[in-house]
Amino acid sequence: MKTIDTIYVNGAFVKPHGTEVFDLISPTDNGLIGKVILGDETDTQLAVAAAKEAFKTFSQTTKEERIAYLQKLYDVVKQRECELIEVMVKEYGGTLHFCTMSIQNALSGFTSAIEVLKTFEFQKIVGKSKVMLQPLGVVGIITPWNASNGFICSKLAMSIASGSTAVIKPSEMSALQTQLLLECFHEAALPKGVFNIVNGRGDVVGATLVNHRDVAKISFTGSTAVGKFIARSAAETMKRVTLELGGKSPNIILDDANLEDAIPMAVSAAYMNSGQACIAGTRLLVHESKIAEVKELLKETVEQVKVGNPADATTVLGPMVNQKQYNRVQEYIQLGMEEGAELLMGGPGKPEGLEAGNFVKPTVFVNVTNDMRIAREEIFGPVLSVITYKTEEEAIEIANDTDYGLQAYVSSSDVMRAKRVASQIVAGRVLINGLYHDPLAPFGGFKQSGIGREMGVYGLEEYVEPKTILV
Ligand code: NAD
Repeated sequence: MKTIDTIYVNGAFVKPHGTEVFDLISPTDNGLIGKVILGDETDTQLAVAAAKEAFKTFSQTTKEERIAYLQKLYDVVKQRECELIEVMVKEYGGTLHFCTMSIQNALSGFTSAIEVLKTFEFQKIVGKSKVMLQPLGVVGIITPWNASNGFICSKLAMSIASGSTAVIKPSEMSALQTQLLLECFHEAALPKGVFNIVNGRGDVVGATLVNHRDVAKISFTGSTAVGKFIARSAAETMKRVTLELGGKSPNIILDDANLEDAIPMAVSAAYMNSGQACIAGTRLLVHESKIAEVKELLKETVEQVKVGNPADATTVLGPMVNQKQYNRVQEYIQLGMEEGAELLMGGPGKPEGLEAGNFVKPTVFVNVTNDMRIAREEIFGPVLSVITYKTEEEAIEIANDTDYGLQAYVSSSDVMRAKRVASQIVAGRVLINGLYHDPLAPFGGFKQSGIGREMGVYGLEEYVEPKTILV
């Protein structure tokens, strides 16, 4: 069992001033796998001071220097890729397949920042003026547990690309993953204070960052509830915010779609990251004339979904991250039944033989209406709600009748038709006939899925502020 008893401030692993101990529990069997000593307000203040000092010189570095730093970070993370995947499977319970992809995304955070930086112009002539895009200053990076190192890498990469410095507060549940990543980052020997990491609670370390007058921006990924709280608090010091929040993504299967392809893809979209994904396609919209066929295909597909040991390469669904998350998903399954939805697959309780961990049965509800809470609220577990529609217009209306707007999916045998539908959906990304990721294209949400965009040029622009020079 490992105890993480350091945080990272000003280029060094140091003992935190905070003394609170947080247990790290395996999601797979609920055994104790580690402990982390949490940082506190004092630790956060020291980290911000280090980042502020480092900003004086780091903000003056050239693009070429920053590209070299990003390349170093890429190299050191790449070297320990396998260990990073392993610790993610162990601590988070993500499947081997998902964790492998997640660490690849972490790496692509660095390569895409390099790509963007190569052609990004930090100075422009606008009208008769010179406009300089200046790095913001100290950035507070706050991340969730569901792809911890991926978010840390992509956010830090953009912070570095801009010439800003950072204080990172990862989820306290990800301490083993953070520690290994930190060992990699330390190897890269960046200037002291360019990044600092303080393990700690959201309402302590996170809140100190959000309220700190020397922090210029908060880049947050997490729940909509905490995102709203951060936005309100950040207004006090006029911080810039990028908020990547929750989702309840619609997946429209148009009546001309090839169901043999679309339904397995829909199950993958709903159950990705064991259902603990902000972009999960959890509302499946099906033409009423196709529902019988869809039900059959859903049964066939979901029966094949293997739940179990996340380290096994054939596992599709791992456990929920902790017992609290397990209970939350169970409550929603119960609620779906009480609301009158028809349980097609899965249901309450744990799959047989997996009682020790936080495993959930892959669950599908049909006869769901879009006003039910299981169709409106983010469940964050492997629960798919199937809703029928009569016309294309109604499908679009249902898709958009949500507080969220992060991602959406459309399937059709006519790509032009799918694109026409996609253009009417209020979401940051719409995926047509497949599951894709583009690390250079903007990512982020409409409505209560967030504010701002990450990735690519749009992502970098969120870390700079225009300054006009008139002579
Ligand atoms: P969460 O909001 O509970 O926590 C996220 C982070 O915020 C954690 O580090 C937490 O410690 C911190 N935090 C909590 N209270 C805080 C406060 N008062 N001030 C500052 N920081 C605080 O989210 P979670 O449970 O870790 O993650 C799951 C949520 O994240 C889901 O809602 C999911 O949709 C969302 N998410 C969104 C995206 C996206 O890109 N849009 C990606 C992944 C996850």
